[in-house]
Amino acid sequence: MDGYKDAKRLDSYVSRHFQMSAFTQMECIQGVMLNLPKTIQGSWIDTKARMASCALDITRDGYSPFTLFFSKDHDGKGSKVLVLEHIDVKQCPWPEPSTKFGHPASGPLVPMMQTPKLPLVLVRYSYMEGRPKEGSKFMEYLQSLIRKQMPKASETVVRNKLKFHVGAGIETEEIHLRTFARLLSHNASLLDPKFSAKFQSHWKGISEAVKGETMISFFVPCLRLRWRAMEEIEVGKPIEILGTTCPTCGVTADKLLCTACKSVYYCSKECSTAHWPEHKTSCRVSKRLITNPSSFPPNTYYISARTYVDCILETGFAIEQEAVKYSGTTNIGDAQRNEYGNERFIVRTFKDPNYSHNGSYKGQTMFLWDRRRSVLLRSSPGDPPMAKERGWPFEIPFHADGHQQYCRLLSSRGYRGQLIYLWARRVGDCLELDLKNIPDQDSIPWN
Ligand SMILES: [Zn+2]
Ligand SMILES: [Zn+2]
Repeated sequence: MDGYKDAKRLDSYVSRHFQMSAFTQMECIQGVMLNLPKTIQGSWIDTKARMASCALDITRDGYSPFTLFFSKDHDGKGSKVLVLEHIDVKQCPWPEPSTKFGHPASGPLVPMMQTPKLPLVLVRYSYMEGRPKEGSKFMEYLQSLIRKQMPKASETVVRNKLKFHVGAGIETEEIHLRTFARLLSHNASLLDPKFSAKFQSHWKGISEAVKGETMISFFVPCLRLRWRAMEEIEVGKPIEILGTTCPTCGVTADKLLCTACKSVYYCSKECSTAHWPEHKTSCRVSKRLITNPSSFPPNTYYISARTYVDCILETGFAIEQEAVKYSGTTNIGDAQRNEYGNERFIVRTFKDPNYSHNGSYKGQTMFLWDRRRSVLLRSSPGDPPMAKERGWPFEIPFHADGHQQYCRLLSSRGYRGQLIYLWARRVGDCLELDLKNIPDQDSIPWN
């Protein structure tokens, strides 16, 4: 897009969205399959549906010049309203609205995989909490847009038409509305200010008052942001990367990473050398998993945090390779970067009863990832032989006791015996899963 600050960044942003859309589609299918309780379905499913309906509005003949989402007043502070004026759609050779993306209108929500080009919907938007005292200038402006569509109609007819459009607004959960608004605000910051200013001033009939109430932004319909960007949008502030304290002297250190396990940062070579006698036992926990697996405590499941993954069920091969790149490593056998220091964090763990490795170890492979996809791991009794089969110059460890306990836990506590969220902690080049203290499954804020 012309107004983007940096064409390269836009490319990577869009292609990431694209890959993530596939991610999401698969995830949704799994979500449906598992029929998860509503409480643990992520807000993004709904937000994405909102974006989709907004995008589809644009393709409709005689469409409303804007989309309005609102949430009911639950906290007494007035209802929240998000209004989007559709300005433009970039790179978007869409087919007929009745066969959106080549699918019937009643087809799947995220059919983007079928289209070679991605739509970027450029919008002017306003997010309001409660009704502005003097009335919204943006709404007045939208009324003037409707007037242009029906130049001969009376003032009353135009006002009624506006009322109709507002009335056709979509009621949305507050959290989803806020998420969407945050996404738009994040995307607005990615636009070149000159580009936005041009839109604000050259767009006919835009007054200073309307400019003050609105921002220019864009979104990629139906798609979901991943990685840290998504988390940052959801919590509304930059995410701190933990674990950047030198374990020897305690100062902030973010340069010298132990290359073997990628889990500890040092401030200097001296500090790294001084810490080695202590660190070496945890640095290669995966080695100990191979040589002395019975030395691990009960109620834990150790998984090597090295990249052996070439497929994660809910994602698909190509996307997974991308995911692995984002996790800070490109080479099979490399440790994935530790973004949590010693803090524990929640991972989604999943086992498909039908998944097998070349027909063997059916239903034995466990996949896991954290919310921001900084680690993507698998563990299966089929992994050690896989390294031999493929002639890799390293061994893959497998924690058989942990795996057994995990399987028992999954069948007793997991959703349909297939999915369970667990606490994890990084220990050197491994992830330690806590099989005893199980997080409240219904309150996990991501799907
Ligand atoms: Zn130090
Ligand atoms: Zn290390």
